[in-house]
Parts: sequence; C-alpha cells; structure tokens
Amino acid sequence: MIDHASTLSILTPIHCLLSMTASLVWLRRDLRLADNPALAAALASRQPIILLYILDDDLTPQPGGAARWWLENSLYDLGRRSAALGCPLTLRRGAALAILREICGRHDVKTVYWNRLYEPAAIDRDREIKTALRADGLTCESFNGTLLHEPWSVKTADDRFYRVFTPFWKTCLALPDPPFPIPAPDRITGLTPAPNSDHLSDWHLYPGRPDWAAGMRDAWTPGETAATHTLEHFLDQAADYAKKRDHPGVMATSRLSPYLSLGEISAGQIWHHVRTRQHQHPEAARSLDKFLSEIGWREFSYNLLFHYPQLPSQPLRPEFDAFPWQDDLESLRAWQQGQTGYPIVDAGMRELWATGYMHNRVRMIAASFLVKDLMIPWQKGADWFWDTLCDADLANNSASWQWVAGCGADAAPYFRIFNPSLQSAKYDPEGDYIRRWVPEIAALPATGIHQPWLASPTTLAEAGVTLGQTYPWPMIDHATARQTALAAYQNVKAGNNS
Ligand code: FAD
Repeated sequence: MIDHASTLSILTPIHCLLSMTASLVWLRRDLRLADNPALAAALASRQPIILLYILDDDLTPQPGGAARWWLENSLYDLGRRSAALGCPLTLRRGAALAILREICGRHDVKTVYWNRLYEPAAIDRDREIKTALRADGLTCESFNGTLLHEPWSVKTADDRFYRVFTPFWKTCLALPDPPFPIPAPDRITGLTPAPNSDHLSDWHLYPGRPDWAAGMRDAWTPGETAATHTLEHFLDQAADYAKKRDHPGVMATSRLSPYLSLGEISAGQIWHHVRTRQHQHPEAARSLDKFLSEIGWREFSYNLLFHYPQLPSQPLRPEFDAFPWQDDLESLRAWQQGQTGYPIVDAGMRELWATGYMHNRVRMIAASFLVKDLMIPWQKGADWFWDTLCDADLANNSASWQWVAGCGADAAPYFRIFNPSLQSAKYDPEGDYIRRWVPEIAALPATGIHQPWLASPTTLAEAGVTLGQTYPWPMIDHATARQTALAAYQNVKAGNNS
C-alpha cells in the first residue's frame, strides 16, 4: 500500500520548487560557495536560486589589470563548480540596479541576497539599490561575509572608532568569536531555465595580447578550492610564521591575500581553522596568534576605510596636505620598472610586475623609498599597486600606504625612514630574494649584493656587473634624501609650508 504521508514528504520540496518564485544571490567579492551567508540564506528559502555576478563598470575604483586577471579565473572556477552542483552562474555587465530589476521582474524574484561591501562607492550604490528594490516591493537581505567583525561593532568605550591598532585588536579579541563557517552546499537547485548570461570571454577581463600574465599563471591558482589548499598548506608550516614572515627569500607567509581580496575564502574560515590548529598544535599557537593579528590589520584597515571614506585619496593627518611632494614622472617610472639602483627595491617591484604580488616587508621598503627618498605622493604608489597587485584591496592598500607615508592612523612616524640597504641586509642576508628577481647582479656575493655601488671593481667585474650599464647606479643617495625628507617634514610640522 502506498504511504501517502511519506510520498508527500518526498514530493513536497520538488513541488514547492516548481511553484515558487526564485531567490537571487548577488555575488560580489564573495566568490565562494562555502561560508557564504547570502547563499546559505537563499538556500534556506527553499526556492530555486539565481546566482548572479554583475561586472559593474560604473563602480569606482574599477579593478586594476592584475585583479581583473584574477577575477576572470575566479569566475570561471566558480561558474564551473556551481553548475556542477545544479546552478549555473549568470554573468551580466552593466549598471547593477537595471540588471537586478530586469532579472527580478522577468523571473519573479521576491528576495535578493548579498554579502555587504565596505568601500565607500559600493556602500552608496548598495544603499540606492536597496531603496529602489524595496520600492519595487522586493525584499533585500544583506550579510557579513567579509570581516570577522563589522566596522560599527568595534567601538571604543566612549563609542568612537579606533585609530590605533593595538586597542582595536584587543577589543576584537574580546568580542564573541565570528560564527562557525557554513559548509559548502552539496546541491544548489538553480532556476530552470537560468537567466541569460554573458560569456565570460566576451568581457575581455584579461585581454591576452600582450600576454603579460604568464608569471601570474605560474605563481597562482585562483579559486575557492585553491584558497582552501593554500590555507591548509600554510597551517602545516605555520609554526615558523612569526620567525620568518619578514624574510622575503623564504615562503613563510600564507599568500592568502588575493583569495581574501575576492572572498574565495572568508576571514571567518581562516579564524576557525587557525583556532582549531592552535588547539591541536600548542607549539604553533604563538606564531598563529601573530598570523591572526595580521588578519586583524585587515580588519583595522576596513574599519578605517569605513569610518574615514576619504582614506584612498586624502591623508588622515591633514597637515600632510601641505607636504612638498615631488611630481617627478621619470623617477616614478624608474621605481615602477625596478630600475632604482637599490636592489631590494628593484627586486620587489619586479616581483610585483611578474607575479602580481610582493612580499609585505618589501612592500614597506619599496613604498618608503617612493614616498620618503623620492618624495613622490603616496597616492601615486597606491595607484601603481592597485593596477599591478592581484590582491589589490582598497582598504588594505590605502591604509598601508598611509601607514608607510606616516600620514595615516597609527602610522610609522614620518621620521623613521627605512634604509633600504640595511633592511635588505637584515631581512635578505644572503641575497636570495634579490638574486631571484634581479638576475643581472645575481653573481655578486652576499657582501656586495645589497649595495653594489660599494663593491670593489674586482668584485663587480667578477660578477659581470657594470654599474650604469648592466645595472643602474642608485638613482638617489639615501642619506641625502633622508635629510631632505626630514627637513620637509619639520617644515610641515611647524606649519611653515605656505
Ligand atoms: P600574511 O602575512 O600571511 O597575512 C595574512 C593576511 O593578513 C593577508 O593575506 C592580508 O589579508 C592580511 N594582512 C597582512 N598584513 C596586512 C597589512 N599590513 N594590512 C592589512 N592586512 C594585512 N594587502 C592586501 O591584501 N591588498 C593590498 O592592496 C595591499 N597593499 C599594501 C600596500 C603596501 C604599501 C603595504 C606595505 C602593504 C600592503 N598590503 C596589502 C598588506 C600586506 O603586504 C599583504 O596583505 C601581505 O603581504 C599579503 O601576503 P600574505 O597573504 O602572505 O600575508
């Protein structure tokens, strides 16, 4: 005899799916299926899903070249995996509101789900979209899919936002843990037929000619699966992180930044993996605390950007508006091309150009050289990083450049000027990193590789180096540049720059 009750319980979900409207998940910088609160909420609605990514050409700033290469690969990976689970990824290019309205109207969508963004232009756009869709009678639900704690939830005792990292992070650590990560769905019932989609290749995110991405392809595998593997690989060797993280010649950092930037992995996933690992391997606990504090710097940068939306363009310390920055295009070019004559700076800039990444210590050295030795505005450096970093992130990039320039919150004091040669000898003592990226001086011994201009003629000749021909002379004398920068700073501080 047929058991009607159990037949009904088996049939009900399919029946419901057929008769119900669709739920739309608008993916942005959360290109993952696991721990995606917007997707999880849409799945809980038990309606067929539309997974949508919009390339919004009006949103500022537009992603730079390296980030667009990453985005193309990430969308390809996500689309392939979501389709395998039952829901193709719909791609559309244009103004977000118009596209959302068209798809919602055509496919009887009642609720739109997304994870929140914190960049000023995205906040304004999303607010307008929410208002407009609600006026259309739709429901919009947004979530935190990006941060451990949202900027408005980390406040000082007198209800202000933090401008200093240490108390900010202390407060974060005292808050309840971020929610436990949501597992990836094993099936996503997509709306059939799915809305029309653009072809990813028609977007020409990565033009292909000239093919400048070979180094990035060698160095990286974008996508959620690779993000998880990268985290696991890092955790296996993380006991050394605190000791070796400043050494660019050693692969001791996580290299998770590009994955975090597009949300292929969430900060919450990292947090909970790290906490589990600390529990299982107490010997790595301190090192992993240091690692989490770097995730804390990311949180802090988002906190600054949210509360100070001018962060990408204006110094947090207004006195720096009067700094006598130099508009020196030739020097900027030499820096961009890794032709400054300071090997550690050149190695970093070439690593960046080749792979879309630069080690953090070298980012600090190269950035300091630009803003303090060359006195070129930090915004020019931030623009170049924005275009060339595959982990380009408005909050992290802006906050870090302001930190290096000394004009940001909790910044390195302006008078503490990095000496590129000393930094190089300290953090790349054998010159391994320099040799990798500046091959024309690779044959110099460790004693000569940090300051080739001080090497003896014999040493240079034996290494096949002719300064001014095979490798540049230093474009500026660091000691002199330092004095000039300090004098300019004293003037600004005294309010003498009129
Ligand atoms: P890990 O040492 O493994 O750190 C783990 C994660 O913590 C990183 O992936 C990143 O998300 C976060 N993090 C680490 N250091 C910082 C920091 N100082 N500020 C904020 N978050 C941090 N990072 C970006 O993600 N995007 C950028 O556009 C960016 N621009 C920078 C520009 C300058 C001038 C400087 C000095 C730093 C910049 N950083 C930026 C921060 C940092 O250099 C990178 O996050 C880090 O090198 C990434 O490598 P990793 O993932 O191996 O780092």
